Amino acid sequence: MSSFQHYSFSGKRALVRVDFNVPMDKTTGLIADDKRIRAALPTIQHILKSGGSVVLLSHFGRPKNGPEVIFSLAQITSKVSELLETNVLFANDCISQEALELSKNLQPGQVLLLENVRFYKEETAGDSAFAQKLAQHGDCYVNDAFGAAHRAHASTTQLASFFPQDKMAGLLMNAEIENARKVLHHAERPFTAIVGGAKVSDKILIVENLLNLANHIIIGGGMAYTFYKAMGGQIGNSLCEADRLDTCIDILDKAKAKGVQIHLPIDAVAADRFAADANTQVLPSNAITDGWMGLDIGPEAIKNFTAVLLASKTILWNGPMGVFEMPAFENGTKSIAHAVADATKNGAFSLIGGGDSAAAVQQFELSKEVSYVSTGGGALLEYFEGKTLPGVEALEA
Ligand code: AMP
Repeated sequence: MSSFQHYSFSGKRALVRVDFNVPMDKTTGLIADDKRIRAALPTIQHILKSGGSVVLLSHFGRPKNGPEVIFSLAQITSKVSELLETNVLFANDCISQEALELSKNLQPGQVLLLENVRFYKEETAGDSAFAQKLAQHGDCYVNDAFGAAHRAHASTTQLASFFPQDKMAGLLMNAEIENARKVLHHAERPFTAIVGGAKVSDKILIVENLLNLANHIIIGGGMAYTFYKAMGGQIGNSLCEADRLDTCIDILDKAKAKGVQIHLPIDAVAADRFAADANTQVLPSNAITDGWMGLDIGPEAIKNFTAVLLASKTILWNGPMGVFEMPAFENGTKSIAHAVADATKNGAFSLIGGGDSAAAVQQFELSKEVSYVSTGGGALLEYFEGKTLPGVEALEA
């Protein structure tokens, strides 16, 4: 792998794999959040300032069978132009002669955005011949799409092999890897992981791996109730994965054997319906009456979790503590976000996983109060599950 900072981009065309998979507002048709585009700007600007030109390659949504207007990257060209303060060219596809002509004629300082790479089924199939065609767009390959690094797709893995001496991670990818490695391999102790979200089944692999890494694991969100059920508690209509009860007991046993402290939310904000205006009451998480469901952690749980977090030196957070999208059930997630921010102020290193946790710290305007907010939901999760990320491995091969 070349070093991005030391690579000479002057007079070269850099083929840059970015993650421009931005959420769109369905009513206005405008970009709902341009964070992912902004995150790639330093990499693009560095290449342009160094005298290179840039060919941008990205996926956008999940088109099923070829081109679809709603998944066209043409919709975001003007936003990329605005943010880069330059007129970004657009190619209607990825590998036609016209698209290749456009990139061949790029002048230093110019930027070309290619159409959605997932319009080709060869992309998700990881097709090498397709990657070879894509490779004609650049003299060097920069991967800055951490959000797609867990996918073994043509543009994230095979493409790298066509640039044996000229492949590298961009600034965003480097920052993501560096921060994730810091937590995975060099965590200052105590190291506390917060795992939340809806399901045990989605988070089982990360919890299993964290048992080898963390000193404390805080479990919140819907998945906590499967643990309470497994321990013989009464959880009413709360989320429960009946086929994961043994898994929960197994995790609790393993944690005890390894000396890892698992913290479950002692109380819950229970609701009589899954609705923003439901009636609510605070109940012990192991005594939720029928007809009620735990939709957030309660005040005692917040107190307990906050104490653990304030005593931590490293914090990893993946998954909300409750249904934070509804104001009535946001308090647990908000309080934990504040506790993470306070711990960070006291010198802890805090890494916030992408997806819902990143959305939560943004919602509570705390993104700048934590050490690092990852742009990769699935990728970060897989990294902490102990898996190798194909997109990162391809750069290092
Ligand atoms: P995940 O994608 O697994 O991280 O789960 C995130 C989702 O879990 C969010 O949309 C939350 O609304 C939801 N969630 C969190 N806590 C609960 C809960 N107690 N009951 C139902 N859903 C929940």
